[in-house]
Amino acid sequence: MALGRVNQGSRTVSLEAGAVPGGPRCPACGAPLFVWVETRGWGPREDQVIDRCENCGLAVPRDAVPDPDGAAAELTGSHGADAADRLTLRAPNAASVQAWLGAENWAALRPGERELKPSPRSAELLLAKRGLGVGRVRHLAAPGMASMWQTLLNLLTFHRNFASEAISGRLRPSEGRGRAAYAIDVMVTVLAAVPTAILAVLIEGAAVLARRGGVIEIEANFLPDPERPASDAKPA
Ligand SMILES: [Zn+2]
Repeated sequence: MALGRVNQGSRTVSLEAGAVPGGPRCPACGAPLFVWVETRGWGPREDQVIDRCENCGLAVPRDAVPDPDGAAAELTGSHGADAADRLTLRAPNAASVQAWLGAENWAALRPGERELKPSPRSAELLLAKRGLGVGRVRHLAAPGMASMWQTLLNLLTFHRNFASEAISGRLRPSEGRGRAAYAIDVMVTVLAAVPTAILAVLIEGAAVLARRGGVIEIEANFLPDPERPASDAKPA
């Protein structure tokens, strides 16, 4: 993954901010974590710094970097649906076109959330820690387009994920960035809904074809051998 990508976006923090001795390390591959973006919260949900591993692509909030076992448990527990010998999990893809395009406006980054966002490579590494080998990775078109649509709208509105946050009642006009910003976001969302939806279908359609979709579904099998051959199959 190109280092230069972390510099796009107006609120991006310098790359060097993450590279300190004893600083946080990637729970999937052990490489140093670098600051990727800073997201804005509102109300009780504060601004967050999101780190990203330039080696395997994992994205994780700076104040909630889990240890390797915790990260593997979070991935399999929060996203996964267990079967007898297999696990299927669906997750936002940190190595997607929409994560790159949206950066701090990526729809998968919800205010105040502490969840890690995997890439296919980091998911493979974390699943191997739980004795799981990745069988298939699908890039899901419809959920990816919905997330791309929200990401494009986020580039235009003051509040991230404005429509879903407002409809759910988590964001009220008196909170966030004020009543004027709220009113403008209502107007922008209504006016831009159709054009951004068309763009989302086109961009995400191409991203899925390039296997850079915004939502991935991973099928993993429990390995019979505890020596974890999946982690030996490819160099880290
Ligand atoms: Zn990593």
